[in-house]
Formats: sequence, structure tokens, C-alpha cells
Amino acid sequence: MTRRFALMIDPATADAVRDDFADTFTRVDAAAPALSVGELSTQRGDGVFESIGVVDRHAQEVVPHLERLAHSAKLCDLPVPNQEQWRQAIEQAAADCGEGEYVIKLILSRGVEHGPTPTAWVTVAPASDFSAVREAGVRVVTLDRGYDLDIAERAPWLLLGAKTLSYAVNMAALREAHRRGADDAIFLSRDGYVLEAPTASLILRSGDRFVTPAPNGGILHGTTQLSVFDHLTAQGFEVAYEQVPASALTTADAAWLVSSVRLAAPITAIDDVSLPVDAAFTAELNQYLLSPRD
Ligand code: PLP
Repeated sequence: MTRRFALMIDPATADAVRDDFADTFTRVDAAAPALSVGELSTQRGDGVFESIGVVDRHAQEVVPHLERLAHSAKLCDLPVPNQEQWRQAIEQAAADCGEGEYVIKLILSRGVEHGPTPTAWVTVAPASDFSAVREAGVRVVTLDRGYDLDIAERAPWLLLGAKTLSYAVNMAALREAHRRGADDAIFLSRDGYVLEAPTASLILRSGDRFVTPAPNGGILHGTTQLSVFDHLTAQGFEVAYEQVPASALTTADAAWLVSSVRLAAPITAIDDVSLPVDAAFTAELNQYLLSPRD
């Protein structure tokens, strides 16, 4: 049986210190009304979120997701999320998932217009079946993001590096990629450096060395990329965060888009230039990503 529901988190308990937060969660069916029409998350996309992969009721990488939620909240001047309360909400939500792959979303919104507190909730839904794309891979196009690499420090109000609910631009970039005959996109900075995909991080392989764009360039620091780097380091590979020029894309030995729910999708072509795919290596990577990770 597939399950779709939300746990609404009582905002009055956001600062509470206690062992058990179970009575601060209200379960609502995904089809039931739960939000006020004055919600600033729906009116302005004003809030932050996380998407966590769940495999056979195990929520993956909970602490890195909670840390990034707190980082995003700080960048947006939202109250610091109560880590223990959110951890218990995730635990309860994961326990009620079915077998197989699910996605838990954490949402922390500015709240209701003129209302006193932020609104917070956790949703549960079955994940899409990404098994084919994990094998067959994705064709990508590069798209100009319109900012220089140093924009995050020069203009922090753009909230780059925060996982905000305002994903309309990311979704538009995916539609543009589809219009150009590709499956996904890689954003480039205006000054010609590689950034990230609209919903994933990029990892490039060169021999036994793996590189990802440094996360201080106004991109999200991906929890999956972090986990992949730990895994690769344990296997004796070299990993590095670098400023990656766009010219490095098509000379890589292999490349992947990695994210919490789709996991590792090998890139088969960038701007119509084919890239080699190591099917066995990618399968092992996804096997690792599907194993329980904390
Ligand atoms: N970059 C962006 C813009 C994203 O939206 C995401 C995930 O949604 C990622 C990177 C990858 O992050 P994670 O591996 O934590 O899912």
C-alpha cells in the first residue's frame, strides 16, 4: 500500500526542550486541507525545505539534511529549527512509509501573513521510479545562470546557497532543457564556471580523481555528493572541491548528477558531446546510495 500524508508540527513547541515530541505532530492525509490561505510559503515561496530519500523505512542522511535546513533557515532569517523535534518527526514519518523508496520533505515556512509564528510540516509520498534513469543516464545542456561565481558573497539577499521554496527558476531551467532535447541542465556562472543542476549536484571524474564545484559559489552543498565523496575516499580515490571551468565538462572521463531521491544519474552527453558511462561503477555507486546511510 502506498502512503501519502503529512505531519504538521505544532509551532508553539518550536523552542521546547524535551525527550518526546510525539504529541506535537498532527497527522493529516495528503488529500486533506491543512494550510491557511494566508500561508507565505504558497503566496511568496517564502520558506526553506529539504527532500530526504527513504529506502525500506530508513531515512537517509538525516543529520546532514537537518544541518542544511538550519543553514537555509539562517540565511533566510527564519528561526533556527528545533533539531530534535524535526528528527523525531522524520523518524515517525519514515516508520509509516511502506517498503521501497519514499521521499520525506521538510518544510519550514515564514508562516501565515500577519501570523505570529512560522509554519512547519513534513510530507511523505512514494518516490518516482528512477531505476531506469540510474542506468540509462541523462543528456544535459548547459544553461547560463546569469550570475558571476562570487555573487553569493556580494549579494547575500539573493539567498543562493539556501534551499528555499522558490524553485520556479529551477523548474523553468528543466523545461528549457527539455525544449532543447535534453533531460536535465547544468547551470554555468556568467563568468564561465560550472555550478550545479537545477535539482542535483555535479561530480566529474578524471582518472582516479573526482571533483565537484566548490559550494561557496552560490550553490547548494549536496548531501548526496558529500556521502559519495566519503564513499570514494574510503575506496582510496582522491576527491576535491574546485572552481571548475566550463571547458572541463566535455573532457571528463565520466560525470554524474547526484541527488537525494534520484541518486546517481550518469551523464551521457553534455551539449550534444557524448561522455563515456561506466555502467558497473555507476551501479555500485547507486547500490551504495540505496544502502542505509546515516
Ligand atoms: N543542488 C540543487 C539546486 C538541489 O535542488 C539539490 C537537491 O534537491 C541538490 C543540489 C542536491 O542536494 P542533495 O544531494 O542534498 O539532494
